[in-house]
Amino acid sequence: MEYIPYGRQQIDDSDIQAVIKVLQSNELTQGPVVDLFEKSVAEYCQAKHATAVCNATAALHLACKALGVGPGDIVWTTPNTFVSSANCARFCGASVDFVDICPDTYNLSVSALADKLVLAKQQNKLPKVLIPVHFAGQSCDMQAIKALSTQYGFQIIEDASHAIGATYQGIPIGACTYSDITVFSFHPVKIITSGEGGMCLTNNQKLADKIRQYRTHGITRDEQHMTHSKEGDWYYQQLDLGFNYRITDIQCALGLSQMKKLDDFISQRNRLAERYHQALEAMPYKQPILRSDCYSAYHLYVIQTLPECNKTRKQIFDYLRTQSIGVNVHYIPVHLQPYYQQFGFKTGDFPVAETYYQNAITLPLYASMTTVQQDTVIAELNKALYD
Ligand SMILES: *Cc1c(COP(=O)(O)O)cnc(C)c1O
Repeated sequence: MEYIPYGRQQIDDSDIQAVIKVLQSNELTQGPVVDLFEKSVAEYCQAKHATAVCNATAALHLACKALGVGPGDIVWTTPNTFVSSANCARFCGASVDFVDICPDTYNLSVSALADKLVLAKQQNKLPKVLIPVHFAGQSCDMQAIKALSTQYGFQIIEDASHAIGATYQGIPIGACTYSDITVFSFHPVKIITSGEGGMCLTNNQKLADKIRQYRTHGITRDEQHMTHSKEGDWYYQQLDLGFNYRITDIQCALGLSQMKKLDDFISQRNRLAERYHQALEAMPYKQPILRSDCYSAYHLYVIQTLPECNKTRKQIFDYLRTQSIGVNVHYIPVHLQPYYQQFGFKTGDFPVAETYYQNAITLPLYASMTTVQQDTVIAELNKALYD
């Protein structure tokens, strides 16, 4: 039986040729292709600045550093995400708290956020930064989140690891209309890939400068930023403690080539999502709900088992895996990870995310998935109910 993964990259000859060209060139890293990839993404997203880094986890870390997150600060995110969205704050020595999700979109709930902010203000525990995650490729309600950030004075990092190519209110995700920084991931299961890779987008020159500096050890070669004039052409200064979070030209060549296909990938994903939607209507599974002001990148297609299934999520999941269907689960609520439980989080803290997790199954979805493969998944989803 052919194994159908939940997600995978789509690489063609032009991608391969682009990578070969860099391998035959003089610069494998810190060459011209990093800039080209950054420009391509910034232009596509209508953002002023883009900085490519080695992965999205590093991008989230740099975003937190640039916004001044440190010991004593509090960062909030959603429990329904990959651990990186919370870990980036811990890297900076800040503490983490979570905001429960909305039962329809599985994104951070704006009403839960508003309630939590009222309490936090009374207790003098307001967050410095909020990291909303555009789960499965659908934007959070950024306009409402931005209004709360203005009222309470926190900054916003969009974790858009799932959402390059998506739009909100007709504007590309990454434009940072309602945020300080947006982060993308280019891991192979995401929308486009550079092998490993991530990017920070912002419209703020100062933040962009800081992100660039932290990407390379806290070093600057720009005389304007130095404490005194250059001692010679060799001269650089380390102004702060940064990291080596650089990405290679090899990776950026792949990313740049993939950018040309981004719109096509997204429309394929939307077409397949619509086919799932039609086919699953007759089955007792809860389907994803889309807001009318969003165009989703459909990184993930997540269904939930309902009581009418008469089967548990685990039974259905296990059956599908035995049939070579690479279903997955996104996400185990972050506050239930042992690492976060040491800070006092426990079952029941974020009940909507926990209930969602109990029932969620991620179905295979990727741009190159054939309708034959998809029909196999659909047929097995039906069989799973009667197996
Ligand atoms: C994949 C992912 C990340 C981390 O991306 P990497 O590029 O693998 O570091 C962070 N946040 C979310 C929501 C993700 O899905």
